[in-house]
Amino acid sequence: MKSKFPIDRAIKILEREIKKYKVPIVGHFSTSPFKVLISTLLSLRTKDATTEQACTRLFAEADTPQKILSLPTSRIEKLIYPVGFYKVKAETLHHVCNELIEKHNGEVPSDLDTLLKMRGVGRKTANLVVTVGFNLPGICVDVHVHRISNRWGCIRTADPEKTEFQLRKILPQKYWIRYNDLLVTYGQNVCLPVSPHCSKCPLSAFCPKLGVGRSR
Ligand code: SF4
Repeated sequence: MKSKFPIDRAIKILEREIKKYKVPIVGHFSTSPFKVLISTLLSLRTKDATTEQACTRLFAEADTPQKILSLPTSRIEKLIYPVGFYKVKAETLHHVCNELIEKHNGEVPSDLDTLLKMRGVGRKTANLVVTVGFNLPGICVDVHVHRISNRWGCIRTADPEKTEFQLRKILPQKYWIRYNDLLVTYGQNVCLPVSPHCSKCPLSAFCPKLGVGRSR
């Protein structure tokens, strides 16, 4: 990387540290690209615990595009409630499952550009499907990855999309798939959006803490 931040050292420490915490919900479905896709769509603007319960209820009743499509959206709404925007998401799940069946033989595509053409699928969702679902190179950037990468000074960007493109240029590819899991888990537990726990963070000695105001 061009910045002076020792990314190899930081990643090595985070690999050890995140063992203390719960993995983000989407990581639970790494053996099924379909479940990664659906759980990511449900997780947008929703707490992990709520997404986890919604996924458990939904997948117990319908765990394939065909089965989800056979449910009325009113039933899907009931199963996924109270995830954020559950009515819109129930409609989105129908559209996505229909598209998978009509255009992709019922399979989830592994290609980023094809995924991005699907309704309701943005860069974060598409990258998670590629990385977690297919174990292929991609960088999924959400608010935690965006915030922490900027605090480390690896990049200086104003939004997650720019962060993804910058990271694609400077982050060694060997870290692409793991980067999201590591930074999301750390961002939810230690490097919080407001008042991060810098005093107990093993990166503190070399982290420039850019943009951090109050910390604990
Ligand atoms: S030292 Fe503070 S800002 Fe830097 S990674 Fe740790 S918690 Fe985040």
